[in-house]
Amino acid sequence: MGNPQGFEAFHQRSITDRDAFWAEQAQLVDWHRPFDRVCNYDNPPFARWFEGGLTNLCHNAVDRHLRDRPDQNALIFVSTETDTEKTYSFRELHTEVQRMAAILKAQGVKKGDRVLIYMPMIPEAAFAMLACVRIGAIHSVVFGGFASHSLASRIEDASPVAIVSADAGSRGGKVVEYKPLLDEAIRLSSHKPGKVVMVNRGLAAFTAVEGRDVDYATERAKVMDVVVPCEWVDATHPSYTLYTSGTTGKPKGVQRDTGGYAVALAASMKHIYMGEPGETYFSTSDIGWVVGHSYIIYGPLIGGMATIMYEGLPIRPDAGIWWSLVEKYKVSVMFSAPTAVRVLKKYDSSFIKRYDLSSLKALFLAGEPLDEPTAKWISDELGKPIVDNYWQTETGWPILAICNGVEKAPSKFGSPGKAVYGYNVKLLDDQTGEELHGSDVKGVVAVEGPLPPGCMQTIWGDDARFVKTYWSSVPGRQVYSTFDWGIRDKDGYYFILGRTDDVINVAGHRLGTREIEESISSHPKIAEVAVVGVADQLKGQVAMAFAVLKDTALLGDEAALLKLEGEVMKLVDEQLGAVARPARVRFVGVLPKTRSGKLLRRAIQAVCEGRDPGDLTTMDDPAALQQIRDMQS
Ligand code: AMP
Repeated sequence: MGNPQGFEAFHQRSITDRDAFWAEQAQLVDWHRPFDRVCNYDNPPFARWFEGGLTNLCHNAVDRHLRDRPDQNALIFVSTETDTEKTYSFRELHTEVQRMAAILKAQGVKKGDRVLIYMPMIPEAAFAMLACVRIGAIHSVVFGGFASHSLASRIEDASPVAIVSADAGSRGGKVVEYKPLLDEAIRLSSHKPGKVVMVNRGLAAFTAVEGRDVDYATERAKVMDVVVPCEWVDATHPSYTLYTSGTTGKPKGVQRDTGGYAVALAASMKHIYMGEPGETYFSTSDIGWVVGHSYIIYGPLIGGMATIMYEGLPIRPDAGIWWSLVEKYKVSVMFSAPTAVRVLKKYDSSFIKRYDLSSLKALFLAGEPLDEPTAKWISDELGKPIVDNYWQTETGWPILAICNGVEKAPSKFGSPGKAVYGYNVKLLDDQTGEELHGSDVKGVVAVEGPLPPGCMQTIWGDDARFVKTYWSSVPGRQVYSTFDWGIRDKDGYYFILGRTDDVINVAGHRLGTREIEESISSHPKIAEVAVVGVADQLKGQVAMAFAVLKDTALLGDEAALLKLEGEVMKLVDEQLGAVARPARVRFVGVLPKTRSGKLLRRAIQAVCEGRDPGDLTTMDDPAALQQIRDMQS
């Protein structure tokens, strides 16, 4: 092996001398009681990291910084929606989190209970997350852009004791009322939470439900000086669940542990993001997504950094807003998504040039493929390293990246980099399960178990589904499938080529086409529908729906179809949220299927993208695809 201090040796050691490697990384966080065993993999694919250890995420993110940096900024809240800017030092954050913890306890929340958080990007959302892990409760944040139907299925699955929510969010100056969506979701769910803590921002009037809804401000006033110590929990104690879409309509609750997650994030701050204590981290994501969990809340705070929580659009009041924050708060590490950069690219680059960005060390981009023109544009404009990194809700932190904190290495446009330490990444033949060793050969990106610390422990309440979904898809071997296609070049750099399943990626947000199909099918006039992801210049992909009507006579009536398209979009908005709304709903006489009745989604997608749909010998009715093809011209 070459350089013993280099990345290759570092990665190699993380696999071949796994326990010693992670025991060292574990020193980056505080332990109330040290662990006895680094990794228990006696029952694969279930990995139990740092068994015997007692720790607490909130302690590591907040309390332990009170000694060295009590007055340093911890949370910087900026809302261009409500024109609010407020900073919290570690000491102030500590106080607010204890107050929120006391409020939750007063609502009956105990260790192991679930608390669902349905909130806009406001400080109280961060307090609620940190308060939960402080008392050993398990939070489940649901993205504020999701509507009642999506929310209901998550309430049903998580069965929370309490919910923390707010009157409204705001997007582009438009108030989005949360309370009616929440009330409807609770009505739809068979599980009813005992209590709802409502943060009233004064954006939208709402009616409190007697005996269930409590007012955050009123409760907070009762506990101003409260002390709520951290509950020391097992390293393997779940810290949160976060729902993500898959191939079925039922979302999966990705369950994360406590100790492994703390260690993984602390190590990633050092080796990948290179953020130092006292600096400022700015991730433009939302707490409803995994990036928000790992790199708005926990990662930066565990690393002793200030973190910016931003509510608003990247172009309001103008396209310079993010860069103005970089200048003002001396941001050293920034994390965003390619979609956001593509939005900014439409504006004059003087919006970047007018700010002093000397504090910025690098811009990290993740969540969807980073196309070369976008990468090149932002790299030229910023004059800073652009670091693509690839990961998933399931893993919680990067699988592929350039670990510049270990050894500086060049990025290659179009590639998120190499396998990160801890991940034994393989490319496998999807039919035979055979490992593909050659360069530039396409295979399924898979990870040999155990998954490193910080990755999902299981699917909440469904171990069997965890094994079946993630560890049984490659024939003949138990490996973790990412469900992404990839190739690797001769230097070990990977290139991600898209999903192997029916998951689509719209503006960096992952959506299951089945969920959208189920929603559209609930319209009384729709008999059947197929939803596919189609390449889009700005959003990466958009959802396109092709529906068959119960009354086919309507097909000739353009005005009626247009009206129906509007109704279907509204239905998806109401049930799932605007993120899931298809770009178009087209009406067809019949959908392309195999003779055995399987929908040919991939063929539809290929036709929509002007590609060859491939082998269609099993297709039942060739006219069905022709109809869709005709719609494209
Ligand atoms: P999510 O769990 O919502 O973060 O979505 C994860 C999926 O997004 C991955 O399985 C990939 O399909 C895609 N993805 C995430 N990051 C990247 C990246 N850097 N390059 C290409 N695809 C990515």
